[in-house]
Amino acid sequence: MALMRRQSLVKFDAPLCETVVDTPKPLAKEVLVRIERCGLCHSDLHIQDGYADLGGGRKLDTTRGMTLPFTLGHEIAGVVEEAGPEVEQGLIGTKKAVFPWIGCGQCRDCLNGDENLCAKQRFLGVSIDGGFASHVLVPDARYLLDYDPLPVNQAATLMCSGVTAYGALKRLVDRPRQRNLLLIGLGGVGMMGLSFAQAMFKQPISVADLNPAARDAALENGAAVAYDPSEADIAKRILKETEGGFDAVVDFAGNEKSMAFAVAAVARGGKIVVSGLMGGNFSLPMVQWIYKRMTIDRRPGTDGAGPCRQDQADANEGRADGRRPEMDRRIAGRQGRRAHRTEELIRPYRAPLFAAPGGC
Ligand SMILES: [Zn+2]
Ligand SMILES: [Zn+2]
Repeated sequence: MALMRRQSLVKFDAPLCETVVDTPKPLAKEVLVRIERCGLCHSDLHIQDGYADLGGGRKLDTTRGMTLPFTLGHEIAGVVEEAGPEVEQGLIGTKKAVFPWIGCGQCRDCLNGDENLCAKQRFLGVSIDGGFASHVLVPDARYLLDYDPLPVNQAATLMCSGVTAYGALKRLVDRPRQRNLLLIGLGGVGMMGLSFAQAMFKQPISVADLNPAARDAALENGAAVAYDPSEADIAKRILKETEGGFDAVVDFAGNEKSMAFAVAAVARGGKIVVSGLMGGNFSLPMVQWIYKRMTIDRRPGTDGAGPCRQDQADANEGRADGRRPEMDRRIAGRQGRRAHRTEELIRPYRAPLFAAPGGC
């Protein structure tokens, strides 16, 4: 039997390690996809850590129920290599992105189309083996999405980074006041958000990031104004320049400082959507919350909560009607920022990426 190679999590808080196993044979409705690209998500790093930061030195243990070795990676695109007997065999050889937020397919939530809420989730790279491998076994061909004419790199990252950014922004489209919009945090998801926002909103889009290079990249890619949150009296300047603050804010960082900045910059009656999940704790004086009449929402959720398939379909549709989110090489380069840490973690074990087994 043919072998497949994986970069597996064999120990928490440790580098990934190559494991070689028999390539699974797809049964019934299953499909075997040969992976061409798999993006790296911050959630992969959280799972690798084995905990999530709850703030104040407290940690949430995320290792429970996980069996190692495990293959991370949920931003997958590739080519169908083999299809189960109940699958249209013409799919073989086609290029597909893989929707990873898969439920049991039988419970009330799954039957409602909300597989993201399923208690028996089979999320690829989160609950069942994912895409840091040469192949992935997908439970049903209906989770495969056409992505042509998008580049394969972009198609893969749309599966989590894209739908996360899109889902957060979608929560702001029906706001009664649409004077302005602020995106905080310009990592991979934030830059994806900047790209989507230009297709979804008419108002000028402002951004904020501590990194001057990130701010420059955003300004070159459509942002109207870029703020440095560490600047002295920045909130005062924003309230003045925006005549009372931002009506809509997305926090793509999701930590204590970024949320404090979001609350300082939001206008009375405005709305903050929290998308990032860097962790920590967030507290807000009741008076300030009520006084500002602000709404705080969160993105529909991807990792651990999953977006709905409709969001994924909508995000993909963006390209069909000419509103394709463009991600040039510079923006793609921003994706590299979150890749950096795992690069460091796995580098000693990958030269080349799929080195001879048994090195760990
Ligand atoms: Zn993700
Ligand atoms: Zn279910």
